[in-house]
Amino acid sequence: MPFHPLIDQGYFVTSVPEHEGEFRHVFYGAQQVPVADCPNCEKPLIRYFQLDTTDPRLGCTDAPTEFLPLLYCWSCKIPTFPFSYRILPACGVEFLMYAVGKAKAIYENYPEAFPPSGVKLIALTERQQALIHRGNKEEYDDWVTPDLYGELDEIFANDYQIGGEPQLTQTPWERAWRATLCPLCLDEMPFLASFYDANLDPRGFSGEDTVQVVFTYCPKCHVVSAQHQCD
Ligand SMILES: [Zn+2]
Ligand SMILES: [Zn+2]
Repeated sequence: MPFHPLIDQGYFVTSVPEHEGEFRHVFYGAQQVPVADCPNCEKPLIRYFQLDTTDPRLGCTDAPTEFLPLLYCWSCKIPTFPFSYRILPACGVEFLMYAVGKAKAIYENYPEAFPPSGVKLIALTERQQALIHRGNKEEYDDWVTPDLYGELDEIFANDYQIGGEPQLTQTPWERAWRATLCPLCLDEMPFLASFYDANLDPRGFSGEDTVQVVFTYCPKCHVVSAQHQCD
């Protein structure tokens, strides 16, 4: 089964000071109004990314809003099941699927938002994409030789990716990856973005740096779905 990204060209997402950012993409930070509260916790969901849909590189120009928020919660049962919501034209969201229930906070004094930053996107080279693809298909021990260490370290230094095929925490991905179906049209939802646990807060969003949140997007129904993987 091939990996289906929304856009074939992948981009590493790098954090830069807000005034140096591209388009109006924002990494983390507090949500804008109207705030989407977690249906379990009744407080704002964590915004991983505000995607500016006018950026023609990212394949979301048909979205009903200028901004597409990538949202998740770590303070309740949401991480136990795919979490899906539809983007509404007035910038709100409608929850379609989520695990119901409270849970203990991941750590004490969990923030309502993580510090924001601007974003620059760096296009992956064909070679980088091919190495990631190989890493997702095969055990590293089978093919990684010392001459590749430098190139792979450069790839692994990137914790966030939009489009293309991201380096996945669970491999080989064909065994580990569960395709997400859009809860509205039941089509497979293409991959949009992935985030390892690293941000401007040293505690991160889950307290475990091997945790990765993966977002998929149905461009027909404007539905976002998120789930996480850990190794
Ligand atoms: Zn919650
Ligand atoms: Zn759909």
